[in-house]
Amino acid sequence: MSNILESELLPITADLSAKNRLSIGGCDVRDLVQRYGSPLYIYDEATLRGMCRDFVDSFTNLYPRTQIEYSSKAFANPSISKIIDEEGLSMDVVTGGELAVAIAADFPPERLNFHGNNKGREELTEAVRYGIGNITVDSFAEIDLLSEVAEELGVRQNIMLRLSPSIDPHTHLLTTTGILDSKFGFSIETGDAEIAIEKAIAKPSLNTEGLHFHLGSPIFELEPYSEAIDYVLEFASRMRKKFGLELKKFSPGGGFAVGYVTNTLPPAMGEYASEIVTAIRSACDRYGLDEPELIVEPGRAIVGRSGVAVYTVGGIKTIPEVRTYVSVDGGMGDNIRPALYESEYAVVPVDRPLAERNHTVTVAGKFCESGDVLARDVDLPEPETGELLALPASGAYCLMMASNYNMQTRPAVVLVNQGTSRLIRRRETYKDLLASSIDFD
Ligand SMILES: *Cc1c(COP(=O)(O)O)cnc(C)c1O
Repeated sequence: MSNILESELLPITADLSAKNRLSIGGCDVRDLVQRYGSPLYIYDEATLRGMCRDFVDSFTNLYPRTQIEYSSKAFANPSISKIIDEEGLSMDVVTGGELAVAIAADFPPERLNFHGNNKGREELTEAVRYGIGNITVDSFAEIDLLSEVAEELGVRQNIMLRLSPSIDPHTHLLTTTGILDSKFGFSIETGDAEIAIEKAIAKPSLNTEGLHFHLGSPIFELEPYSEAIDYVLEFASRMRKKFGLELKKFSPGGGFAVGYVTNTLPPAMGEYASEIVTAIRSACDRYGLDEPELIVEPGRAIVGRSGVAVYTVGGIKTIPEVRTYVSVDGGMGDNIRPALYESEYAVVPVDRPLAERNHTVTVAGKFCESGDVLARDVDLPEPETGELLALPASGAYCLMMASNYNMQTRPAVVLVNQGTSRLIRRRETYKDLLASSIDFD
């Protein structure tokens, strides 16, 4: 492997510290662990802001009427939401809990969108009360429920409809969301999408502004986007003729990939932007549609690279001719992606990032599951108990899927920038774990 510090995997500020160890955001990673404990999730503010700007520039240079909407399920945290707001992005939430995070950060309601295939009455009520800019409706039941809620509150709610375009983005089956056999969205193929549009337009308390689809994640190919865009816009033009649907807004979702390992890197942001914008322009041309406002919904690609997980090595077990297990103090409790999706991660030896990697090892977690492995068959310098290992690209969908399995507390999160660090989520305590156990809290 060439110099890991210069790879696309680590945050843009990754460097060697004065002590020849890994540094991020101008902070020596071992010093951070000494201060905040292990395991530790480190988010680099410069990378996060850089990704926001990269998205905005890549799209608005080609298509000025674009709104970049951060998908907060990748990492929902009030301090991160503040940065997203400062960068002028919109944000989406998929539960009342994520909405509560957005509200805690005073996120402007007009730039919020509510996704999700089964929102409850309470969640919808909270969202409409907050004055949410858009709700993306995902089922027939929701058309009725939301129109009732909006009517009760005396609001005409802006909505978009989530469609399922029956297109396979060739990602892991569990992260594919736009194929025919999916719980998400109104299927165009089965005729549901057409019925949904007719129903939604007929509701006086709903203002149907546009259409949305989301294919899955992470998508390393470009063609699924253009294929789906053409299919959905052709459908939109038929719906205009049939029901007078005016497509003011259009969202081809998110799903943009990030680099997890050096031999599988995603297309550049500009390539995704160009593929999407070209497809929209040519479809609008072909089907005689006015160009809609474009909404792009990256989650992973905004926060993935900015986050790094750091673990401490404990036991090392060598099984001759078979495998060496290097156990660390975290694992599937804070990052279930390898166990769930067979996701791969690179591993960086924090104390000697550039040392020769002449041992093949498997980095295992501390949870009571044999599947609790963070990185299988990775090359590292000879592992040592007490050393720190970092997993790059851990900013998205790790802590959000974290659990307290084995009653393990979840790690602290720090935000680093220009040599300073700030705790944005403290490590959980045993008291936190007992807080909801009635009579023992
Ligand atoms: C999860 C999700 C996204 C973001 O996906 P990423 O892969 O993180 O970019 C965008 N839109 C919808 C509807 C989603 O469910």
